[in-house]
Amino acid sequence: MKKHNFFAGPSILSEFTKDETAKAVMNFAGMDLSVMEVSHRSKEFVAVVDEAVALVKELLEVPEGYEVLFLQGGASMQFCMVPYNLLNKKAAYLNTGAWAKKAIKEGKFFGEVVEVASSADANFNYIPKGYEVPADADYFHFTSNNTIFGTQMSFDPEVSVPLIGDMSSDIFSRPIDISKYDLIYAGAQKNLAPAGVALVIVKTAALGKEFRPIPTMLDYNTHVKGQSMFNTPPCIAIYAALQTLKWYKQRGGIAAMQKDNVEKAALLYDELDRNSLFKAVVPAKEDRSVMNICFVMSEGKEALEADFLALASEKGILGIKGHRSVGGFRASTYNALPKESVQVLVDTMKEFESKN
Ligand SMILES: *Cc1c(COP(=O)(O)O)cnc(C)c1O
Repeated sequence: MKKHNFFAGPSILSEFTKDETAKAVMNFAGMDLSVMEVSHRSKEFVAVVDEAVALVKELLEVPEGYEVLFLQGGASMQFCMVPYNLLNKKAAYLNTGAWAKKAIKEGKFFGEVVEVASSADANFNYIPKGYEVPADADYFHFTSNNTIFGTQMSFDPEVSVPLIGDMSSDIFSRPIDISKYDLIYAGAQKNLAPAGVALVIVKTAALGKEFRPIPTMLDYNTHVKGQSMFNTPPCIAIYAALQTLKWYKQRGGIAAMQKDNVEKAALLYDELDRNSLFKAVVPAKEDRSVMNICFVMSEGKEALEADFLALASEKGILGIKGHRSVGGFRASTYNALPKESVQVLVDTMKEFESKN
């Protein structure tokens, strides 16, 4: 049966990404060897990294003066590398949920952290607005898409201090103005590749301040100099990332992705607002994520939750159980998820309504 993959991460990859990576597992670049068993310094693999960097720059229109890096340790390592390298005395963070809190925790190892606003008072079901960022902060850090709570800031915040974004779960889903940022990072396993690599885009001028001694592997300069090859990189994850980037380009680039994502999300949110059995977790339309759509049974219908999960799995719908801190359901509608899968979910919700 056709499966509809709504997992939050690791999550759906395009058929193209999987096919091309599978081929390279057996025969990479015509070498009759696997991409898993050739030197990362072979000209064939160096070409993979170079092409991936070039495609990130092309798709996201990265201006001059920025470096594109593929690093290990996931987005979670960036929670620590960012303040290690860029926090001198004080940094500002927006607390929009679990990932933001983890970033804040690491920031505190290196200096004063000002939490400019938080939506903890409503279990992070909205994006705080009208906060002030201290003018003397070394940077302002925010999470563009809150994977667990289903909220999103689908715009580049206007601040007067250097801007840093954790874009793990919405990078490549919409255009971004890179020139507004000092640094963007994203774990790959939501919109790019299998787990094992994080994408970092950093303004060269933001580096080299040497606020403190930094261990070699945690220093961005090491990886800029080594062109993501200071040590052995996660070759297969980078190879798969390149395939996804090629697929994005074939599909018409980031603007086309955004158009699809907005349509997919509208299809599901419209049904959530219509169907009497279900309710979207995020009330304000402008705060609703187009990548992770959280919903619950409506009041008084909670007992039907297990029945709906069972019906969904009969239809081949996988990965919609909500995160334990929100409950209910979460449909992750990343770039690679076809609209058809969202339609199957919506049809299943309609069928469930008519039966109950
Ligand atoms: C998944 C996720 C992370 C953590 O990524 P890892 O690669 O597992 O460290 C951080 N931030 C956001 C927004 C995420 O969605």
